[in-house]
Amino acid sequence: MIQYGKQFIDQTDIDAVVDVLKSDWLTQGPKVPAFEDAVASYCKAEHGVAVNSATSALHIACLALDVGSNDIVWTSPISFVASANCALYCGAKIDFVDIDLNTGNMSVFELEKKLLLAEQNNCLPKVVIPVHLAGQSCDMQAIHKLALKYDFKIVEDASHAIGAKYLDKPVGCCEFSDICVFSFHPVKIITSAEGGMAVTNNQELAKRLRKLRSHGITSDPTEMTEPSHGPWYYQQVELGFNYRMTDLHAALGISQLSKVDEFVNQRHFLAQIYDTHLDLNLIRPLHQSDTCYSAYHLYIVQLKDSDITRHKNAITQLRAAGIIGHLHYIPIHLQPYYQAMGFSVGDFPNAEKYYQGAITLPLHPTLQEQEVHFVLNTLQQILN
Ligand SMILES: *Cc1c(COP(=O)(O)O)cnc(C)c1O
Repeated sequence: MIQYGKQFIDQTDIDAVVDVLKSDWLTQGPKVPAFEDAVASYCKAEHGVAVNSATSALHIACLALDVGSNDIVWTSPISFVASANCALYCGAKIDFVDIDLNTGNMSVFELEKKLLLAEQNNCLPKVVIPVHLAGQSCDMQAIHKLALKYDFKIVEDASHAIGAKYLDKPVGCCEFSDICVFSFHPVKIITSAEGGMAVTNNQELAKRLRKLRSHGITSDPTEMTEPSHGPWYYQQVELGFNYRMTDLHAALGISQLSKVDEFVNQRHFLAQIYDTHLDLNLIRPLHQSDTCYSAYHLYIVQLKDSDITRHKNAITQLRAAGIIGHLHYIPIHLQPYYQAMGFSVGDFPNAEKYYQGAITLPLHPTLQEQEVHFVLNTLQQILN
């Protein structure tokens, strides 16, 4: 079976984890801050806060920005459900901004249109969560301009995008956002098994994120309501969670991060083979903007002139041939849970159109060139 995505683990990764097992610290030790510093430094952000998943990072990012039950959060309907669920965890209202069909990313045109309307109806979002689909950054400069005009905060869901660049700077530098979130799930660019990180340039936000990741507890005397009772003392000053990353996971993350550029290069190399051999009469890849350097988490194509049957058939037949074609994503607003909240078919027509034609083809650093050609040939046969 050719998987659509898969981790690459070498002996260095294994040794790094085993070393931690032999050390005094399995969790809350030195590897976690070392991983935080490594990621922050790699993407040129000031602070990194490691957690047990990107989902947790999105949750505490919303909380750190004071998202609560009277607030509204917007994200893209073409994403994993976690991008929207984080708002619901905070008791906030979620809504979506339709996508640009060329890139699959949140459409700035649709965003501006929706903001204008929301301003009239007094229901502007507190936070917008752009998702860098497949590893290509959204148009962050434009979204940031709108954030200044309409006074909302930005959390980048960069779960797909460590190693990517936007306007020649690393995704995660937070030039155009308040917080940026990465995922280290095994199908993503680098892995810590489970794990995620929030990066930010704002020290107060970083402090708040750290507190929220660990029960809302502080050992910082300046944050306490009374003098310390002694060296054992700590205070819980708000309601937080146990979202901590372990040192085992962090050690794997550090080791993986040293290979991130290699991984992304290899993904580009393989994507290029797809690009040059695809039959553009039948299928087109997502448009790559020249302001972006994608991390190529996913290689997504759109079937031309497709209908539901032809599309479903293509993915089913790929699987019958041993190729795990996939579909990223089912529009979130079409999930039963979201339909029960009042969303319905027709709400985000571009996202729904995208869903009827999108196929994710296999792409990961261990994929062989001849496997890419096998995928291309099989797809060609299926579509003809
Ligand atoms: C994978 C993913 C997440 C969730 O990441 P976890 O680390 O598994 O919690 C969130 N958003 C997007 C876009 C993702 O692809």
